[in-house]
Amino acid sequence: MADEDVFKKLIAHAKEYGFVFQSSEIYDGLSAVYDYGQNGVELKNNIKKYWWDAMVLLHENIVGIDSAIFMHPTIWKASGHVDAFNDPMIDNRDSKKRYRADVLIEDYLQKIEDKIAKEVEKAAKRFGDAFDEAKFRQTNARVLEHQQQYDTVKQRMNDAMKQDNLEELRQIILDCGIVCPISGTRNWTDVRQFNLMFSTEMGSTAEGSMKVYLRPETAQGIFVNYLNVQKTGRMKLPFGIAQIGKAFRNEIVARQFIFRMREFEQMEMQFFVQPGTELDWFEHWKKVRLAWHQALGMGNEKYRFHKHEKLAHYANAAADIEFEFPFGFKEVEGIHSRTNYDLSQHQQYSGKKIQYFDPERNESYVPYVIETSIGVDRMFLSVLANAYTEETITKEDGTTDQRVVMRIPAAIAPVKLAILPLVKKDGLPEKAHAIKNKLRFEFNCQYDEKDSIGRRYRRQDAIGTPYCITVDHQSLEDDTVTIRYRDTMAQERVPIASLTEIISEKVSIKKLLEQLPL
Ligand code: ATP
Repeated sequence: MADEDVFKKLIAHAKEYGFVFQSSEIYDGLSAVYDYGQNGVELKNNIKKYWWDAMVLLHENIVGIDSAIFMHPTIWKASGHVDAFNDPMIDNRDSKKRYRADVLIEDYLQKIEDKIAKEVEKAAKRFGDAFDEAKFRQTNARVLEHQQQYDTVKQRMNDAMKQDNLEELRQIILDCGIVCPISGTRNWTDVRQFNLMFSTEMGSTAEGSMKVYLRPETAQGIFVNYLNVQKTGRMKLPFGIAQIGKAFRNEIVARQFIFRMREFEQMEMQFFVQPGTELDWFEHWKKVRLAWHQALGMGNEKYRFHKHEKLAHYANAAADIEFEFPFGFKEVEGIHSRTNYDLSQHQQYSGKKIQYFDPERNESYVPYVIETSIGVDRMFLSVLANAYTEETITKEDGTTDQRVVMRIPAAIAPVKLAILPLVKKDGLPEKAHAIKNKLRFEFNCQYDEKDSIGRRYRRQDAIGTPYCITVDHQSLEDDTVTIRYRDTMAQERVPIASLTEIISEKVSIKKLLEQLPL
């Protein structure tokens, strides 16, 4: 099945099983805004807890905050967002559709890459085992022509983006003959800069009101509280401040489901360090953050670093952790060495001294900052995409059946176990309820007595429940139950008294945390 089809199925599955709904669906939806359903919110909360504990619980020198979404508008002037948080946009006059100019060009580049891949695939089939892909790419005339076209356009786009050369971006679109996917025409407007911040008015009267922004990142709430936390927590460098919260960006192109949203959630940590030590800390946090992802067991080969060649003017190093989504390797987390830019800017705009007195060096300075910034929703999508599996299973009588199983890492699965009485009579429901009433204090449990046991297993597989506990007549006699494992579908008989131990061994976030480097 093509990756695109898998992705469509995943979106449908996410809706059908209460993970993610389109926002305002009964009013035909609101573009790039989503709601999390009964299972989605549990998974999301578990991801946030795993991150929070990895930061705040495991590090004595990292503390959390929860700053407001509204902030003084000058903050966004100081941070550079008012003047420079822009994307280049272009409209097609016939379809009246708006696009990101760089995304149109990137889509065009992707098509060239696809053509090259097709040539390679064809040749591989033709030559069989004797096929030498590297040599073919270096010598085949058609591939070389495509590659050269790719390199030229890519270079022109990178230069234009670097120099904010909007005319050149338009020229590339014209030169490449890029058409609007809706109207099919090349009737393009000029390219303009579009600021991604949402704004609103604060205050009750027209004269007394002030334009405020919905924060486009949570980081600035940390920077402007640096002094508060450092002083009240008597924090010594190096130390970090962590925060989880909503951020808002008026993205021009919103697509790929919850990958790019207009309202989303970030988990950010700013780590304040002595100037001169920042690049060591940058490497440290790259390692620690990658380990956090890998501990989930979704496959180390699914992650890679992407080093930024083009750095923001205030950064002296930056890398993304990319995950292999069904639509390719894409950023889930950014790790940035932001120098002392943000604190210095706030010092200048607020007129307040924002420094650290270093007792060892006996001097004051503005600390440098390493930032780790991950989108909760993108992380959620990576887990969901990785979990979705369609399987054909052979039943005991030799017939086959299909199941969709969400192989969500057990520690963050929305529901940890389902308790299922084999039949709805003979005291089995009462026994099952009694077990649930004991276990519910520790695990998110579900009770289900409707339909055949097979259908109940399928329902739990579809939401990723790692364990199903079946209560049968033998349970009434000897206080044992069968436990069925989601991934292998193996079943074993165990004493009710041992359930807590068996389940907590696999589903506790503690087990993940124990694997992390400090
Ligand atoms: P992109 O290049 O994909 O637009 P970015 O580099 O602008 O992302 P950052 O500003 O570094 O992203 O934000 C940090 C993290 O926040 C990203 O790694 C991503 O996980 C998440 N994020 C950013 N924008 C969005 C969005 N529109 N929807 C969902 N998550 C987002």
